[in-house]
Parts: sequence; C-alpha cells; structure tokens
Amino acid sequence: MNYKIALVPGDGIGPDVVAEAVKVLDAVGVKYGHQFEYETVLAGGAAIDAMGECLPQNTIDVCKKSDAVLLGAVGGWKWDTLPGDQRPERALLGLRKELGLFANLRPALLFEELAEACPLKPEIIEGGLDIVVVRELTGGIYFGEKGYKDTELGRAAYDVEQYAEEEVRRIAVVAFDMAMKRNKKLTSVDKANVLESSRLWRSVVTETAKDYPEVELSHMYIDNAAMQMVRNPKQFDVIVTSNIFGDILSDEASMITGSIGMLPSASLAKGNFGMYEPVHGSAPDIAGQNKANPMATILSAAMMLRYTFGLSKEADDIEAAVKAVLTQGGRTPDIMSPGKVSLGTKEAGDRIVAAIS
Ligand code: NAD
Repeated sequence: MNYKIALVPGDGIGPDVVAEAVKVLDAVGVKYGHQFEYETVLAGGAAIDAMGECLPQNTIDVCKKSDAVLLGAVGGWKWDTLPGDQRPERALLGLRKELGLFANLRPALLFEELAEACPLKPEIIEGGLDIVVVRELTGGIYFGEKGYKDTELGRAAYDVEQYAEEEVRRIAVVAFDMAMKRNKKLTSVDKANVLESSRLWRSVVTETAKDYPEVELSHMYIDNAAMQMVRNPKQFDVIVTSNIFGDILSDEASMITGSIGMLPSASLAKGNFGMYEPVHGSAPDIAGQNKANPMATILSAAMMLRYTFGLSKEADDIEAAVKAVLTQGGRTPDIMSPGKVSLGTKEAGDRIVAAIS
C-alpha cells in the first residue's frame, strides 16, 4: 500500500527527531512492503524566516491532501520577541483548526526500564503504566464566549464552558473505539456535581455507551481523578474528558512517566486523518547537537500507523523496538543513568531501525 505523509519538521530539534522517525518508518516499509511517500513543508519559525508567516497556505494544502501529518515542534528563542499573534506556536492552533483536529490522544506509557525516572513510589507503578487520555480539543472554555464587564465589585472577566451534544458524542466515540482496541475500560472525567455542562457531558457519554456494551464505563469527578492519578494510576486505562480537564490531566499523567523525550501524541479529525507529534517542544538548547531523544517522535509515528493506517502489527513492532533499545541499556542524555550506554539522536534511531529489521 501507498501512504502519503506530510512532514512538518518545524524548528529546533524538530528536524533532528523527525529525520529519525522517517528512518524508522522506512524500515517498517521495507519489512512489510509498504510505501511511505513524504512531502516536507514549513511551519513555525522556519516558515516565518522563509515566507514571512508561521503557517503558509501551501503547508495547509499539503497537510490536507495527505493521509496523515508528522510534526516535530515549533518555536524558539529567535522568534520569542514577536507579538503573540505572529509567533511560531500560532501554527499549531492554525493546523488544529484547518485540519479539524477535535480529539487529542496522549498515552502515558511508563517503560519498566525507565521506572526510576517516575516520581511515584515503586509499589504504585510496579509492572509499568499504560494509560491514554482522550481530550476534547476544539470546544469548551478555551473556545467559549469570553470577555470583560463592569460590576459592583469592579471589572469582572468571564470564560464560558459550553458543550453541544454532538461535540461530546464525537469525542466519546473516539474514546470508546480506543477502549475497544485496548482493555475495554473507559473512565469519563467531569465535574457533574457542580457544572451543568458536565451533566450534559455525562448523559451523552452514558447514551453513547449503549453502542459499546463490552466496554466497562465509569464516571469520575476531576478533583478525584487528579488525586487517583498519583494515588493509584493503574486503575485507569482510557480516560475521556473535556478540553480544560484534559489539558491538566494529560500533563499530570505524562509527568508520572518521567522524561518528556519519551511522550508521543496524536490529534485526530473525522475519519482516520490525524496529526502526530511528540509532546515536547523545540528544545532550542540542544537543537542540531545530536542530543535530542527521538523516541517520542518515533512512538508518534507508531501511533500514526495504528490509528490512521490501521497497521497495528507494524506499530507494535516500533514500540517493541524502542523497548528493546531501552532493555539493551541504550539511553539518550535526557534519560541517561549510570552504567547505561550513551546514544546520540542518530544512534538511537539507528538502533531502533536495527531492532525492527
Ligand atoms: P521544551 O519541551 O522544548 O524543552 C524543555 C526541556 O526539555 C529542555 O531542557 C529541553 O532540552 C528538554 N527536551 C525537550 N525535548 C527533548 C527531547 N526530545 N530530548 C531531550 N531533551 C528534551 O519546552 P520549552 O523549553 O518550554 O520550549 C521551547 C520552545 O518550544 C518554545 O518556543 C515553546 O513555545 C516551544 N514549544 C513547542 C511545542 C510544540 O511545537 N508542540 C510544545 C511546547 C513548547
């Protein structure tokens, strides 16, 4: 099969890590007889320098006609003094909007080999951790009506949390589908004891559950979920929640896995289209120095194979290869510990390729 992938390396370590993910995808292509076709486009600071805008129309067009997008990271010191609406990071919001990416998937996977990087007690994380947070990405309080008004107590500011049934249903469907592909266990997180929008959220998720009789659904309030995430994270498998709760909970979940250089993510649109990117930023402090950990981006490419192309076996292969390199003791500087083998960005990519071939 032929698969079209738009590559958006971006800035800083973005190009370093995307290059390694491409090496790994090519190795998978050779092994399984798939053809991955790439078209590289500019976004972020690189696009500002070359074309005067952070998200050129050509980038949007190429992404739209591809089957999936693999993004590195955008931003850096060079553009930090630009006004907010001209900064490289605006490209991300633009891409989300233009590509209709309404579901954000963030796995929090703790490799046993990196357990010492986890800030939780060993008995809490024994056997590793594997959670996915499904966050609604284009609705809720971040996009609701907002503004200022004068009141008796002085200026007041407001941000409205609003969800329509259809917005909740489509994210619930993504989460239930995900639960079906995993352990058939879903926790919906809300604040239905206080918020009207959460009561609607809960009722729509419960309705959607009727189409997924095999999935065990539970509901949890956000304050309890934040606490349970550090008290007993292994109780979770798939979590679905609103934009703001998901923003906070996915950061909390990812922190317990240790290094930011290991965390992949996916943002999905209707159908199987998706944009895949590491959770980390452009790390200008180590850009171009062969020091960046490429595993987050390589694991993002694995998510692309699984969720957009339906190539589960190939995705499993990449994840197993990353694990194999860790088991052999291979470590980039961000996850280095005494007695392990130091690897640069390229060497880490090469080892993962070797473990696949
Ligand atoms: P960052 O994630 O880029 O870096 C934070 C720290 O983690 C740095 O010390 C960095 O060296 C390290 N780090 C990050 N990724 C790593 C990797 N793969 N391997 C090894 N070490 C890694 O966050 P920041 O410093 O707050 O932001 C830098 C720039 O990136 C800013 O311009 C910011 O706006 C941008 N940013 C972009 C995205 C994105 O494109 N999705 C996300 C976050 C930040």
